[in-house]
This record gives sequence, C-alpha cells and structure tokens, in this order.
Amino acid sequence: MRSNYYDSLATRALDGEDLSDELCEQVLVDPEVDVLPLLNAAYTVRKAHWGNKVTVHILNNAANGDCPEDCSYCTQAKTSDVDIEEYPMKSREEILDEAKLAYENGAFRYCMVFSGRGPSKARTDQLASLVSEIKSTYPLEVCVSAGLLDDDKAAVLADAGLDRLNHNLNTSEEHYAEICTTHTYQDRINTLRAAKRNGIEMCSGLIAGMGEPASDLVEIAKTLRELEAESIPINFLLPFEGNELVTPQGLSPQYCLRVLAMYRFTNPAAEIRIAAGREFHLRSMEVMGLYAANSLFLDGYLNAKGASSNRTFEMITDAGFEIVSDFAAGDLITAAEKSASEHPVDIAGKSAKKTLDELRPAR
Ligand code: SF4
Repeated sequence: MRSNYYDSLATRALDGEDLSDELCEQVLVDPEVDVLPLLNAAYTVRKAHWGNKVTVHILNNAANGDCPEDCSYCTQAKTSDVDIEEYPMKSREEILDEAKLAYENGAFRYCMVFSGRGPSKARTDQLASLVSEIKSTYPLEVCVSAGLLDDDKAAVLADAGLDRLNHNLNTSEEHYAEICTTHTYQDRINTLRAAKRNGIEMCSGLIAGMGEPASDLVEIAKTLRELEAESIPINFLLPFEGNELVTPQGLSPQYCLRVLAMYRFTNPAAEIRIAAGREFHLRSMEVMGLYAANSLFLDGYLNAKGASSNRTFEMITDAGFEIVSDFAAGDLITAAEKSASEHPVDIAGKSAKKTLDELRPAR
C-alpha cells in the first residue's frame, strides 16, 4: 500500500469518520497492508488522544469460580473442568488491603471482578460500600465487573462513586450463542446501557481468537463505537485445558497488532487496553501493541499468569512510554524487582494458572 493509505486512515480516524466495514476488514486481513506503517498510523491517533501515557490496571479476582453461566472461554464457568483455586467473595478487609497494594504497585485503576450471573440487591449494596470506601481512601479509579445489572443496581453503584463498569461484549451478536447459552448478547447490551444511563463509564471489550471471522471483530468495534464505550479491553483467547473452548484460532502476533490498530481507528478516543493474552499471543512483538493501545493489565489476568510487574514496567519505559502513577517509574521498577518472581506464562503451550498466593496477595 502507498503511504497515503496509512495517512488517510489516521486522518479519517482523527476527524471522527466512521470507517467502512470493508476498510476495517482490510486492515485486519489484507497482506498488502503492512503492519509497521499501520501501527504508525494508529500511533498518530493514539498520541493525539493519549500522548505517550500508559494506564496500568490491576485486577482483583474478588470471587473466583462456581459460576452458573456457561461462557465457553472461561475457567470459572460451570462447564469448565479447569482446576482453579475457587473461593467465595473475599472479605471486605482483604479487598481493601488489595486496593492499597494495587495503589502502591502503580495501578491507575483498580478492577474488582466477581464471578456469577449478576449481583443480588444485597451484594450490590456491599459493592457500593466497598467502592465508596476505596474511593475515599486512595486516589484510584475504580471499576467493577459483576455480571448483569439493571438500572436500579447501576444507580446504587453510581451513587457510591463507581467510575466504570466492565461488561465485555466478547463476540458479535451472531456468534454469541456459540460461546454462551445461559445469557444473551442482548442481556449484555442492556447492562451496558443501564450503566451509561446512570452516568457510569463503560468498559466493554472482546475476546479475539474464538473462531470468529474478521468481520465479527469489525462489527464489535462498530457496536462499541455506537455505545460510546470509554474503555475497550482487547483480550486474545488464552488456552486452558479443561475449558469448553481451548484452542485459539488465527492469532499470530501480527494479526493481534492489526486488531489493536483497527480498534484505535474505529474508537479513536477510547482507552484501548491490551488485556489477556498480551504475553501469550503478541510474544516478542508485545511492546508494539502500545503504539495502538494506551493501557494494559499488570500481574496477569483472572486465573492466568502474566509477565512479572518489573518486566512490564520496563517494557513500557524502554519504549519511551510514560506510566500514569503517583510514583516515579524508576521507583515502581525497583519495588517490583524486589518482589519479582519470574514464572512462565505458558506451560507446554497452555496458559499457566495463578496460584492462591497470586490470587490473594493480601491474605
Ligand atoms: S465470564 Fe463471567 S459470567 Fe461467564 S462463566 Fe465466567 S465468571 Fe461466569
């Protein structure tokens, strides 16, 4: 492709133009489209909205496993045989201690994730009280992922000061029934709209590599644009032996970079996060993802190990990006080095599971 092809992608994205489905699909699959100039164009858009900043998110897997839902990619689903460390909701003290740890470890946003179909009224009140205490104690942005919500529950969380609600679309409407049968795509859309109506920022993303055609990834990108999602986590399917859906499909490092770039062009101002699968699927190209995305998770994912914190911080700063934190990058790296334990993120081609100590660092 000529250089004006890439320039035009950046200019049109910066102008807020809704790129055609065909063009977005071409970004994903056309071998004539080179990845390096594509990332450079995505970087132009990323830089205009986010400069060189990288927001670091730390997940607290606050209630693990025993979920009645059957999401086929999830180790916590009732249909999964993965031998994870299950536990009911952590105590209030443990969650607050982990919020402190997350802040001290450089998190900009603290994301509490609860397995299950959705919170009861009592659980919603409990979450609201936690959100309010965390917000009044630490300068952290707080995000909750707790399943399906209606307007009443979203209002309770909004009143408590919740910044963001995470609820991923995961895949397209057409593909949804193939990955989950216990709730629908529309249930997920309803939850996202309830959050938006109540003034909570929307965090919603996808999982690439579940056998979907490239056109599905375009459709999800366009839906998130319509929904005005402020935050888009892009996951790449992690292979866990024992899940219904084990084998990622079509995820080369170059394809993952194309996905990140396409989401930047279609959602230019969104906080685009390289989520699960960053280490596993981008491999030696990992840092290149930050030329399109401006955010990542530290310390792994819900039940999957990720790279050590010091390696992730070094990767960010080595490439000239800036970690958004009250602490200096050098101090974060030094502190992370002290507690670092290198561990493989995959074993024999499958995702490595977190240990109980990694899942519950404040226990
Ligand atoms: S993704 Fe959420 S709702 Fe689905 S099985 Fe996993 S924990 Fe349950």
